[in-house]
Amino acid sequence: MDILNGFESSIEQLMGIYAEIDAQISTFQAATGLQCPSGCGKCCTNPEVETTPLEMLPLAWELLERGEANLWLDRTAEKNEQGVCVFYQPDRIVPENGRCSVYTWRPALCRLFGFAAVRTKQGKPELAACVRHKEIFPEIVETAQTSIEQGLALPIFADFAQQIANIDPELGRSRLPINQALRVAIEKLGLFRQFS
Ligand code: SF4
Repeated sequence: MDILNGFESSIEQLMGIYAEIDAQISTFQAATGLQCPSGCGKCCTNPEVETTPLEMLPLAWELLERGEANLWLDRTAEKNEQGVCVFYQPDRIVPENGRCSVYTWRPALCRLFGFAAVRTKQGKPELAACVRHKEIFPEIVETAQTSIEQGLALPIFADFAQQIANIDPELGRSRLPINQALRVAIEKLGLFRQFS
């Protein structure tokens, strides 16, 4: 398998994992009624969102296909690859509302946040609840946690992190600030597309 085909295979496997995450979250949401407040984008305003470069490969591929890769590399460079994700579009009227401009290709953490569990020391899943969910829907969050204790399934962060790392241990294990991870993904992919 040549390297470009290796990247294509990684992207295909990642999109399969993303579809599985989305399906598990839909089932969990239907069972609990837990949803994000309408229009909320608060989690994207965290300047410390981190992901692996591997998880940014589907988006990097899409940007290269659109001919927008250099544009976004410039935008990440303007921010020194730090701070809030370059793809977040804040709502001009409602504070804390906003949207992801690359929703289909967003990495695993952006999909899991608010709807996934960590394992306790005893190995039991515990909802890593979003602060806004806890503020606005405290009863739903509490009921969801009780249902999880009684066996309701939901995605587990560590399990998906392991699946992702298994695809490509070099690019899929270390987390970087999201804007930096994007740059690494575009550079890796762009280089191999250029010379393949
Ligand atoms: S990729 Fe999208 S969902 Fe993830 S932090 Fe950026 S704007 Fe938010």
